[in-house]
Amino acid sequence: MDSLDLLIKNLSKLPGVGKKSASRIAYYLLGSQRGFNETLGLEIMEIQDRIHPCPECGNYTEDDICHICSSLSRDRSILCVVEQPQDVLTIDSTGEFHGLFHVINGVLSPLDGIGPEELQLGRLAERVKKNSIEEIIIATNPTLEGDSTALFIAQMFKESAISITRIASGIPVGGDFEYADKLSISRAFKGRREL
Ligand SMILES: [Zn+2]
Repeated sequence: MDSLDLLIKNLSKLPGVGKKSASRIAYYLLGSQRGFNETLGLEIMEIQDRIHPCPECGNYTEDDICHICSSLSRDRSILCVVEQPQDVLTIDSTGEFHGLFHVINGVLSPLDGIGPEELQLGRLAERVKKNSIEEIIIATNPTLEGDSTALFIAQMFKESAISITRIASGIPVGGDFEYADKLSISRAFKGRREL
């Protein structure tokens, strides 16, 4: 396998990049300015050194604590539980939610060997215990696994006085937050209901 084939093979491992796009990108890189490739390569190499999960919420950050957790204008009594760090950005950009986030890093999926221990659920319980949380909004994706994870979280706090809500499914079933538009996300938050 030559260098070009190898690059195409590796690029096609990226999410959303099929063999055809991988090959377009590879040829584009081959024909582009050397400086561009060098900068891009360096950025890819350094991204994991510079960016790490926020120890509070799991959102990605370059600082000790992410900008949301360290903000003084957020409502600290509401936590929004999301599957992955990129959901924080998606939801936050709607401007509809002013509380804090908690990234659980996936969903329960027994068939894939993902149980409660594999997710940041212990950390969630810890955070709720330490802070005066009044509402937990569960914003996992409206998939089978997302729904069962939401129910599991609701069970965790069944005995507490905390209000546990689930966002309305304004997002196409089986769809991902990443691809939902701002309006659908706003509607899903406004239409949240008690679990
Ligand atoms: Zn944070």
